[in-house]
Amino acid sequence: MGSGDFHEASVWIAFDDTDDYEQGCTTFVMYNFIKEFLKTRSEDRILGLPRLIRLNPYIPFKTRGNAAVALKVKVEDPRELLELGVTVVDEFSARGAKTSPGIVVSTTSSERWFYYSALSDVVPKELAERLITKIGAIRWGGRGVIGSLAAIMAELEDSTFELLSYRDGEERPIIDSDILARLSELTEPFTFANMDGKRPLIEPSTDDPVLFGVRGDSAYHVMYVGNTLLFLLGAKPRWLLYETNQGTGANFSIVGKRMYQPSIASGRVTSINRSGEGHVFMHVGGDEVVVYRHTGMAGLIGQYAIVAGGRRPGLIGNPIYAETLFSIDETVKIRNPRCPRCGAAMKSMGKGELRCDRCGFKSYLPRIVEGQYGFREGVPKMGERRHLAKLPERVGLEGLSKIFVMPRRWISW
Ligand code: ATP
Repeated sequence: MGSGDFHEASVWIAFDDTDDYEQGCTTFVMYNFIKEFLKTRSEDRILGLPRLIRLNPYIPFKTRGNAAVALKVKVEDPRELLELGVTVVDEFSARGAKTSPGIVVSTTSSERWFYYSALSDVVPKELAERLITKIGAIRWGGRGVIGSLAAIMAELEDSTFELLSYRDGEERPIIDSDILARLSELTEPFTFANMDGKRPLIEPSTDDPVLFGVRGDSAYHVMYVGNTLLFLLGAKPRWLLYETNQGTGANFSIVGKRMYQPSIASGRVTSINRSGEGHVFMHVGGDEVVVYRHTGMAGLIGQYAIVAGGRRPGLIGNPIYAETLFSIDETVKIRNPRCPRCGAAMKSMGKGELRCDRCGFKSYLPRIVEGQYGFREGVPKMGERRHLAKLPERVGLEGLSKIFVMPRRWISW
C-alpha cells in the first residue's frame, strides 16, 4: 500500500506519433515527460529504463523510423499519469498534417502478440482500442495508440541501448568524424552503427531536437561515447538512455506474404533483370524480389538464395524489397575415378561403365562429385540499414544488455 489511501501500482505509459516528417521526435516527448514526472516524484518510482521500440518498418504512414516509446513507473493513480502525459504531448509534440499522437496507460504488458502483430503487419486502430478496453487500460488521442500499445507489450529478450542527446533550440554543432571514428574504434563491438565508412551516422538528417544518438550493446560504452562527445562539443549534457529493440532483427520474428509484411523468399534464382535506375529485379523460388544498389547479382542465376525484406506494392504483385541476401554459390564438377589397378585415367564407355586407358581394366565404379561451395552475404551499407536490422557486428552479443543492472545515471538535463 502507498502512503495515502491509494494502492500503488506499476503502470506503463507509452507515446507515439507526436512528430511530423521534418520536425519533432517522439523520444523528446518521453525525455520531457520524465523530467516533468521527476519534478514532483522521486527517481525510485521509475522502474527500469524507458523503451524505444521500432515497429513494422514497411508500413506506409510512418514518418521515419516507426518508433514508439514506453516507460514503467510506480504511481497511485494511472489517470494522473495520463493527464501528465497529455500536458507534455501538448507542449512538446510537433503537430503537422500527418501527426496523430496517442498515449496508452496500462498495468499489464503481457499481451505480447500485439507487439508481434505491430512488428509484422498493419494493425487496425480498432484492434488496439478493443485490446485497451479488454485489459482495462486507458488511452488518449489518435492513431498513435497503436504504436503506444505495441511498445508496452514489447518483448525484449534481446535488446540494445541508445543514448539520445537533445538540444534546446541551439544550432546543431558539427561532429568531428575523426574523433567519432576514434571513439567508435575504442568501443567496438559494444557500440555500433556510429559511422558509415567516414560518414558519421549518429546525427539525424531532419530538423528535430535530437543532437545525436549512440547505439550499442553496453549501456556504459554508449554513455562513455555520448558524454565524451558532448564534452568535446561543449554542449550541455541533456540526454536519456533507452533500452531498444534496434539492431536485433526483431522485424523478422514473424514473416508473411501480405502487403507491408516482413517476408523471406528462398529458392533458386531463376531470372535477374536490371532496371534503368540500377535496381535489380529477381525471381527467387517463385517470389518477385527487388534489390537496390546491390552489385554482383549476375552470377546468381541458378543458385540457391535466401532474401529477407518487406513487401510493398509493385508494378506487378507485391514484391519483396530486399534488405539482406544470402546465397550459396555452388560449382559442381563430376569426374571419373583413377584406375584402381594402375592409377591411370579411366574413360566412360556409356551406361556407367568405365575403362582404363592404359591397362584396359573395366568397371562400374561410381563417378566422383567435387563440389565447391561458397557463401555470399549481401547486406546494405551501414547507412542504408534499417533500425531493426540484425547487425552482423552483433552476432554473439545477443542478450548482453540483460547483464547490466539499470545504471545509476541514465538521464541528464
Ligand atoms: P519517428 O521515428 O520520427 O518517431 P515514426 O516513423 O515513428 O516517426 P510515427 O510518427 O510514430 O512515425 O507514426 C507511425 C504511426 O503508425 C503511429 O501512429 C503508430 O501508432 C502507427 N503504427 C505503427 N506501427 C503500426 C502497425 N504495425 N500497424 C498500424 N499502425 C502502426
